[in-house]
Amino acid sequence: MENSISIKYTDSYKEVKALQPFAIRSLLRNMALSGLSLKNGIAGIEKYLLKPRVQFLYIHHIFKDELQNFENLLSTLSKHHTFLSYSDAVNKILTGTVDKPYISISSDDGFKSNLLAMEALRKYNASACFFINPGLIGETDFSVIKKHCKEKLNFPPVEFLSWKDVETLQNAGHEIGSHTMNHIDIAKSTHTEIDEDMRQTFEILKIKCGGVAHFAFPYGRFFNFNEIGRKAVFDAGFTSCATAERGCHIKQDTVLLPEKFCIRRDHVVLDWNMNHILYFIANNSKKANVSTNLFPY
Ligand SMILES: [Zn+2]
Repeated sequence: MENSISIKYTDSYKEVKALQPFAIRSLLRNMALSGLSLKNGIAGIEKYLLKPRVQFLYIHHIFKDELQNFENLLSTLSKHHTFLSYSDAVNKILTGTVDKPYISISSDDGFKSNLLAMEALRKYNASACFFINPGLIGETDFSVIKKHCKEKLNFPPVEFLSWKDVETLQNAGHEIGSHTMNHIDIAKSTHTEIDEDMRQTFEILKIKCGGVAHFAFPYGRFFNFNEIGRKAVFDAGFTSCATAERGCHIKQDTVLLPEKFCIRRDHVVLDWNMNHILYFIANNSKKANVSTNLFPY
């Protein structure tokens, strides 16, 4: 048989989970270490869910076996929150007009499975921002994808969005942001590489998507970024910069400059227990203060 090299893209969360048996355990340990208790169920955390703030949540994948969970998540969140587009969420915080509990959804890495999110998002009238690596969009070489997924994402090989898919997302009212050309760790890159990457992604997305405003750096922890990166993002023309550090954003009365504003986002895996997700965002709400709005650099 020709083509006996096995080209098999992962297309279910079941397959991913089989490869990552420890993820859930570490999540439970993290919960045990933090301050809130789930003893009283949702009733005990409801006041935190009702607090005016913007909570950003981001996902990486919505495989077909996660669709129902995604819809359940949107349904549950909609009981206490209003969905905001990414740009509207950023603007609310920058203009000090956070008056209700808001949720803004984004997704990183540009997997093709993101397309499956569109129907549920439409149902809840929610717009999301998809942070993509332009260097991977439309990539179809399985060996390139397999290497990228393994080395950069610690993930089995998955299909990536095409530029046509990106257009489909935009036409459905979603936003596209940059996640660097090829998913680099900015803290491990040189000043020149960072400047070059920011300029290149900004230009490509300007041409392909008719403009781009938002940036989220790969890996997302503060130690994956630095002051050089922060400056390069805004010098290139982006107007927001996101982390994957937990937290939410409350209204601040003093002026918040876009280049000082550090967007915090909580990662969500769709098969996590719903109460645990609510617990995490309630904990953010409980701990929120205006210093959370700023970069630590
Ligand atoms: Zn990423």
